[in-house]
Amino acid sequence: MATDPRRALREIVGDLSAYLEAQRTLGLEFLDVRWPPAGPPQAPRPTLAQVREELGECTRCKLQGHRTQIVFGVGNPEAKLVFVGEAPGADEDAQGEPFVGRAGQLLTKIIQAMGMQREDVYICNIIKCRPPNNRTPEADEILACQPFLLKQLQAIRPRFICALGGPATQTLLKTKEPISRLRGRFFDYHGIPLLPTFHPAFLLRNPHEKKTVWEDMKLLLRTMQQAGTV
Ligand code: URA
Repeated sequence: MATDPRRALREIVGDLSAYLEAQRTLGLEFLDVRWPPAGPPQAPRPTLAQVREELGECTRCKLQGHRTQIVFGVGNPEAKLVFVGEAPGADEDAQGEPFVGRAGQLLTKIIQAMGMQREDVYICNIIKCRPPNNRTPEADEILACQPFLLKQLQAIRPRFICALGGPATQTLLKTKEPISRLRGRFFDYHGIPLLPTFHPAFLLRNPHEKKTVWEDMKLLLRTMQQAGTV
């Protein structure tokens, strides 16, 4: 390294910028640099059990009358990776667990192809109750459920989030952009890198898009490896 401090600094900046450029070509789109939180001390982190207890036998929206049971979430409470889907379907409503129907079985296969098991990650939805006839969740339902999704993510504090499909991605990122324009790149969700991809149910209808999702999952895995998360 140069002995002249200015030259040494220039060299460091040059090396750093070459390193970041190389990372960018490998697919890195964010830097996981967290500053200590500014301002007043943060509220203590809830546990998943506390969040579930606070949700209770929820009557906060009109879906209360349609569900068999609340589908809160499943998996590792200390997961590094959380998958967020849209809403429980008939199978999930019957079994009380997210992603257990046909789309869920495909999600399980995707997770396994990534070298993990369902138990390693956490899986939940933006809303916790099945909408009638599996219709898309409505704004008031999403709004009523949102604090609980946020608290679930605060409790788990994952290093990465994968949003499955348009409604989940649009809810988390507060955007109306279509999933086709959002998938395959990272966004910031309260300091957590979030990767949108197509929903497994969409893949059941459009199997030719499976390779697209696999590309997204490879990017997610590479980035998790770079972050030392897997
Ligand atoms: N689709 C979802 O978005 N979530 C589930 O839990 C099941 C199907």
